[in-house]
Amino acid sequence: MFTSNTGPYGAVIPKIDEKDFNYYWQDSSFGIKVPKKKIKPHGGRLKIGIMGGTFDPIHYGHLVTAESAAEQFELSPVIFVPSGRPPHKREHLVTDPIERLRLTELATLSNPRFSTSSLEVERTGYSYAIDTVQWFHHHYGPTVDLYFITGADAIVEIMSWHKVERLIQYCQFIAVYRPGYAREQLHNTISQWSEEFSRRIHLIEVPALAISSTDIRNRLKKGRSIKYLVPEPVEHYIKEHLLYR
Ligand code: ATP
Ligand code: MG
Repeated sequence: MFTSNTGPYGAVIPKIDEKDFNYYWQDSSFGIKVPKKKIKPHGGRLKIGIMGGTFDPIHYGHLVTAESAAEQFELSPVIFVPSGRPPHKREHLVTDPIERLRLTELATLSNPRFSTSSLEVERTGYSYAIDTVQWFHHHYGPTVDLYFITGADAIVEIMSWHKVERLIQYCQFIAVYRPGYAREQLHNTISQWSEEFSRRIHLIEVPALAISSTDIRNRLKKGRSIKYLVPEPVEHYIKEHLLYR
């Protein structure tokens, strides 16, 4: 996989041998097909990552987190699931789910082990992690291990949500330290749970990226640069569609 095609908004689409059975072709909302790595068992088990978020907009913090988790836990694929109506962000206006979905697709097109799901965007009502994880559990079946990837701030939040005991039966968690969020708070939260719970939560380090969607939205409002904080196709799409003005 040494060559590539230029896709929408300058996104790089890896060029692969049509007959390479390690890949399949997936439709994107931009009307093109993109190569995706087939799910392969690791030691007999399939391991799939779920990266949930508002992605308003998606940035390199999300991408490096997902890639690190994928590498360390041999996850393939990692599925990005932009939320429809996030229950914890009722107060402030969230960008149209379709726009966030398309931005997430643009950011993940070039990585054959990343894919984007419209599952939550298409669902009416609030988005809860338990519904999403249960959906994937039923879709892939019991032989698949699901790993829910979150930042340190988000896992503390998720654990305060309803049905967390059920959630942890369906998936394990990979929580990454995030610049600006105290490690102690994360450790304190985890130490409150039973040993059985804690064993299903894995803490990992990723290259520190103090990037947040909030900061990116603020920069755009002020007309400041977001270069090198988000992938270029995401930047181009935001500019062309006049988002976050
Ligand atoms: P906002 O500022 O709007 O809350 P955000 O940057 O926190 O946006 P979210 O969509 O809320 O992005 O986050 C989705 C997931 O990605 C969460 O689990 C969050 O903790 C994680 N995450 C976001 N940014 C980073 C980062 N820079 N490093 C590690 N994890 C991150
Ligand atoms: Mg956040």
